[in-house]
Amino acid sequence: MLMTAEDYRESLRRYPPTVWVDGERVESVADAPSLAPGIAAVGITYDFARRPEYRTLMTARQGTSGETVNRMLHINETTTDLLTKLEAVRLVCRESGCAQRYLAHDALNALYQATKAADEAHGSDYHPRLLAYLHRVQAEDLTLGIAMTDAKGDRARRPGEQANPDVYVHIKERRPDGLVIRGTKAIVTAAPYVHEFLVMPCRTHRPEDWPCAVACAVPVDAPGVTIVARPAGRPGEAAARFSARYGQSTGVVLFDDVFVPHERVFIAGETEEAGLLTTAYATHHRHSCIGARAGFGDLLIGAGALMCEANGLDPDRHGHLRDAMVELITITEGFYACGVAASVYGVTDPAGNVMPEPVFANIGKLLLATQIYDMHRLAHEVSGGLIVALPGPDEDHNPATRASLSAVLAGRADIPAERRLDVARLVEDLTASYQGGWYSVISLHGGGSPEAMKREIWRNYPVADKAALVDRLLDRGLLDEGRRPSRQPGRCCPTGCRVPEVPEAPAPPGLTDAGTGG
Ligand SMILES: Cc1cc2nc3c(=O)[nH]c(=O)nc-3n(C[C@H](O)[C@H](O)[C@H](O)COP(=O)(O)OP(=O)(O)OC[C@H]3O[C@@H](n4cnc5c(N)ncnc54)[C@H](O)[C@@H]3O)c2cc1C
Repeated sequence: MLMTAEDYRESLRRYPPTVWVDGERVESVADAPSLAPGIAAVGITYDFARRPEYRTLMTARQGTSGETVNRMLHINETTTDLLTKLEAVRLVCRESGCAQRYLAHDALNALYQATKAADEAHGSDYHPRLLAYLHRVQAEDLTLGIAMTDAKGDRARRPGEQANPDVYVHIKERRPDGLVIRGTKAIVTAAPYVHEFLVMPCRTHRPEDWPCAVACAVPVDAPGVTIVARPAGRPGEAAARFSARYGQSTGVVLFDDVFVPHERVFIAGETEEAGLLTTAYATHHRHSCIGARAGFGDLLIGAGALMCEANGLDPDRHGHLRDAMVELITITEGFYACGVAASVYGVTDPAGNVMPEPVFANIGKLLLATQIYDMHRLAHEVSGGLIVALPGPDEDHNPATRASLSAVLAGRADIPAERRLDVARLVEDLTASYQGGWYSVISLHGGGSPEAMKREIWRNYPVADKAALVDRLLDRGLLDEGRRPSRQPGRCCPTGCRVPEVPEAPAPPGLTDAGTGG
């Protein structure tokens, strides 16, 4: 059953998690003003799945059950699924800033791969357990939080060397009917308003650190789970033009001897397959991050254009403004193109699902991680200083100043001051407020810090092939003869490169509805 956003919000009442926000206990997550923007943002993924025009992007047929499920919970079967998921994530994130739920897709796909590998190596039954869990999550249309990043303690030390073992979530006890886990996941998106957590390892572990190689599903209100969270976005702030409506909470999640029954355990000490899980998740998730931040790029491009207009300036007639806008577009579509390439060159995993091509997925995420700061600079450049200097929204209703401010703070004569100020507040909200900083940091570190992407690019890129190529060309003197290799060598999946069909969505969430981008 595909829920509506309202169904989702109501469904949270069935779960009474232990949640603290800003030092206060949250009695009802569904009604907490501090979390409302986060619930609204996740809600977009529900409502859009029920809109006929987004049916192709936002829903999919789950091959193992034949059921129609939300795209955010689907296991990719083809490269077209990858491309469609990328577009779906862009769609929901340009509407909400960050719709958060795509992390579940990334984790479920990685678990699909790792559980299959573990069963083959160890004769376990993790994969059928996962399938049963997956089908239930899809049938109930749940939202899952991904509890992966451990608190980690001293970064230079491995888990077994930490003074406090609880800086990593680990298996404390094996029981005949399940496991007891303990420890801390430090940054979990949407933690207070998910139905369940997927607990997964955040790094590869050596055999001696096997207790940390654990993956399992834990209800958000399981005994022993405590969530200490931040508000989602900027709730209740009048100046928060966007993030009072849509935002994201993150929580520290404490697992204090939490019992997990067998049917919810998907990896328990198999360090090699846990490592596979971590890297597979990273690849899926970085691919999704590309779609998410392209959605943010859509917001900045639109806001930049409106700001130029409200200032009375036409980028077509003022080269420096056009250049700034073109740079913003180039950055957004540049990293998005890596996501498209990672989809097109997607790789079929031995488990049967399809994974984004890792070099392109990591390059796209690396580009957005660093270029987010340029995106903010460009939005600032075209907008002017008003975005941070504008008097607060209370002044909009001050009879002593309202009329004179309106008269002098307008730009183009046919655009009222209120509309110019509205766009300025939006640009401030997205780029120069607490929320603006948040978008920078999630882009830089969410899905892994830049070094993690660099390692993956270096690990996966066929540098030796390129060296061999040049070696061969030099020996044979091809270049001297003016002859060129007939085709650009590059990464290609072992099963061959398939160009995906174009999804039959009426308006892909790219540049324009005319289909020139995306
Ligand atoms: C808004 C937001 C939402 C997030 N949501 C989630 C989520 O839903 N689920 C989840 O599991 N995680 C989530 N994350 C966490 C994210 O994956 C991490 O921030 C990221 O992996 C980096 O880890 P860290 O924050 O602990 O930074 P650190 O690991 O402390 O890294 C800080 C710096 O130190 C470097 N460094 C770290 N360790 C070493 C070392 N041993 N040697 C050399 N250099 C090192 C890093 O490269 C980096 O430059 C989220 C992050 C953000 C910002």
